[in-house]
Amino acid sequence: MRITAIREVAVPLQGYMANAVVDFSHHTVSMVALISDQFRHGKPVIGLGFNSIGRFAQSGIMRDRMIPRLLASKPAQLLDPNTHTFAPSAVVQVAMQNEKPGGHGDRCSAVAAIELATWDLNAKLMEQPAYAHIADVLGRTPTPGGIPVYAAGGYYYAEDSNARLHDEISRYREDGYHAFKIKVGGQSLAEDLSRVETAIEAAHGASRVAVDANGCFSITRAQQYSQALSSYQLKWFEEPCDPLDYRSLSQLAQDYTGSIATGENLFSAIDTQNLIRYGGLRAAHDVLQMDPGLSYGLTEYLKMIEIAEAAGFTRRQCIPHGGHLINLHIATALNLGGCEAYPGVFQPFGGYTPACILSEGRIVPSDAPGFGLEQKSELAPIIRQLGDN
Ligand code: MG
Repeated sequence: MRITAIREVAVPLQGYMANAVVDFSHHTVSMVALISDQFRHGKPVIGLGFNSIGRFAQSGIMRDRMIPRLLASKPAQLLDPNTHTFAPSAVVQVAMQNEKPGGHGDRCSAVAAIELATWDLNAKLMEQPAYAHIADVLGRTPTPGGIPVYAAGGYYYAEDSNARLHDEISRYREDGYHAFKIKVGGQSLAEDLSRVETAIEAAHGASRVAVDANGCFSITRAQQYSQALSSYQLKWFEEPCDPLDYRSLSQLAQDYTGSIATGENLFSAIDTQNLIRYGGLRAAHDVLQMDPGLSYGLTEYLKMIEIAEAAGFTRRQCIPHGGHLINLHIATALNLGGCEAYPGVFQPFGGYTPACILSEGRIVPSDAPGFGLEQKSELAPIIRQLGDN
């Protein structure tokens, strides 16, 4: 059994929204296809993956380094000697040949797209949905009845108003979401507080609303926000300071009594270890948001969970960044505390499919083989392009 070809395409994200730091209208995502020599229903079985959302496509790193290494390897190098399926950890090891440790840069999301495509490929070979396959491999039972999901929206738009925000959050609530997230830090504190109050009203409760500063605040400004936000008792306050500024985060954690969420811009197990050692986060209180698609894939993410659990955090506090099908399957398989959702934004990757049932704030992945990306109509032309090449 072998991989005969690896294809990658850089896909532009659709939409014109922004957070306090990033305008997403120029963003791209790498979608990868691993073509195997195995056939089902007369067609080669193809594993699909992508590098989540937010760190751009990594076409050059894949084309110049990762893909040649994988295609030059002996077929047995990529297989698990016991199960004879493709071994995601071996795929990472080969893709990372001759790469120095540390300084993860953009390569961690390049590797992640390929590693996640390996899980999709294995699940399809076993004719299982990815959540069931991942749970089987790890000896776990997938969470029954779906996992909690929150609608991440409330971005800043060129044409924006509190009325637009109110409509947006109300629409998510009517669709069956129970929790929501909006951006802060892109306007003055007074304007942001007015947005927060609008969101609370539309959400029917402050405990249903999280805010995300995308790491834009100095410690002084973060403290001003934390003081102002404390009285609302929000769901959480996300990335108040630079993701790697553990001292500021730790200072803030001493003052802010609500939950702090962070981790989407940490890309390795050792980064997670450092966050937990030095970031002042409170076990059983704060939220960890590392995202497998940005951080070398599920193999590395499992090490992060292990580190978090060893420090007293529970899986319920692990809620990955990235509201898409891949993370939905992973969160379900690993019994995590929930998953982000991007209803209507970050197309063609964001959000789920009609086959995934949303009810009472929880969502159940469909039983399509693999991550079920083929069921997402927005991805169909890209998948066709990758398969036809
Ligand atoms: Mg965020």
